[in-house]
Amino acid sequence: MKLELLLLEEARIRFLLSGVSAAFANGIRRACMSEVPVLAIDEIGIYDNTSVLFDEQISLRLGEVPLQAEDLNIFCLPDECQCEGAGCPGCRVDFMLSSEGPGMVYSRDIQFTDPGVKPAFDKIPIVILGEGEKLVIEGYATKHVGKEHTKWQAGTLCGYKNLPGIEVADSCDGCGKCVEVCPRNVLVVDEGRAKATNMVECSLCKLCVDTCEPGAITVTPILDSFVLSIESCGSMPAKDLVAKAALEIQKRAEDLDAKLAELA
Ligand code: SF4
Ligand code: SF4
Ligand SMILES: [Zn+2]
Repeated sequence: MKLELLLLEEARIRFLLSGVSAAFANGIRRACMSEVPVLAIDEIGIYDNTSVLFDEQISLRLGEVPLQAEDLNIFCLPDECQCEGAGCPGCRVDFMLSSEGPGMVYSRDIQFTDPGVKPAFDKIPIVILGEGEKLVIEGYATKHVGKEHTKWQAGTLCGYKNLPGIEVADSCDGCGKCVEVCPRNVLVVDEGRAKATNMVECSLCKLCVDTCEPGAITVTPILDSFVLSIESCGSMPAKDLVAKAALEIQKRAEDLDAKLAELA
């Protein structure tokens, strides 16, 4: 397996993975979305809501606010906690939100009892309050994974595609029509012939193929090479998300190995 980093930002990572199967690449993608635990607001109690939104809409919005924790490891998954899911400081973190209009209630108004926990973004709008309108809520966040509910989905936009192989036949006369139709600026004409310069950007749309004589350009997926694009919801840097996803897969593989060893 070979890994080449193409882009690294706080919330986005893009890399080329070669020498792996589609199932492996898809496993990384799915683990980013559904197996990496994060905190999310799980239950709320509404003491006062005179805003224009129903309680359920407020609840939905709060649940989808991504949360950051300085140390996520101090929290257990509720079903693995010593309280056996009843709820305790080991598996939940309480918060309070109290606002009075006029003005917008933002995610930054959610105040957690643990100073190491906060919304990943300050200015996610929750609801706008008119003069004298109030919103008073308390509740708690728990740690879970995306396969339980999307509010715990650490990876938001996670996708992969095959790296394309692009070949240009000797018959090319360098007319440049394929360069013009390519929406991703993958092709250039160089020394009188078309050539691909930026294959990771190719979407395999094959517009270039249709523009020229049959067989002049071939675009085929390379079956063991994948471009993965992973975006974090903001709860953690994208590179940590991919590393944790890989660890989750490793954990499962080790569990399977141990179970098979027991059977042998
Ligand atoms: S591959 Fe075809 S369309 Fe592209 S430059 Fe060559 S002749 Fe023109
Ligand atoms: S397949 Fe589409 S994106 Fe790729 S080089 Fe051809 S026109 Fe460009
Ligand atoms: Zn607990």
